[in-house]
Amino acid sequence: MISGLIGYKGKYAITFGRTVFVNCTKDEFYAQPWWVRHELTHVRQYKEYGILGFLERYIGYSLFHKYDEIPFEKEAISAEWPTENDLH
Ligand SMILES: [Zn+2]
Repeated sequence: MISGLIGYKGKYAITFGRTVFVNCTKDEFYAQPWWVRHELTHVRQYKEYGILGFLERYIGYSLFHKYDEIPFEKEAISAEWPTENDLH
């Protein structure tokens, strides 16, 4: 439930402030560039809102929205795979 919890084949990452916690090795994490981009988006969001500000908003949203409808997640998910639009 804490931001950035995302699963990939039984692996999980939780981003807290500038730190990404994973239940796999660093190498396994970095081997999935889309996953790194997702979590780095949360790192930036933490910076933007502050840890408390971010968590307050995130938890508030998560009470009323599904995971992929939370604005912070929408942004992180769209950062996973750059679309054509981002390349222009
Ligand atoms: Zn996320």
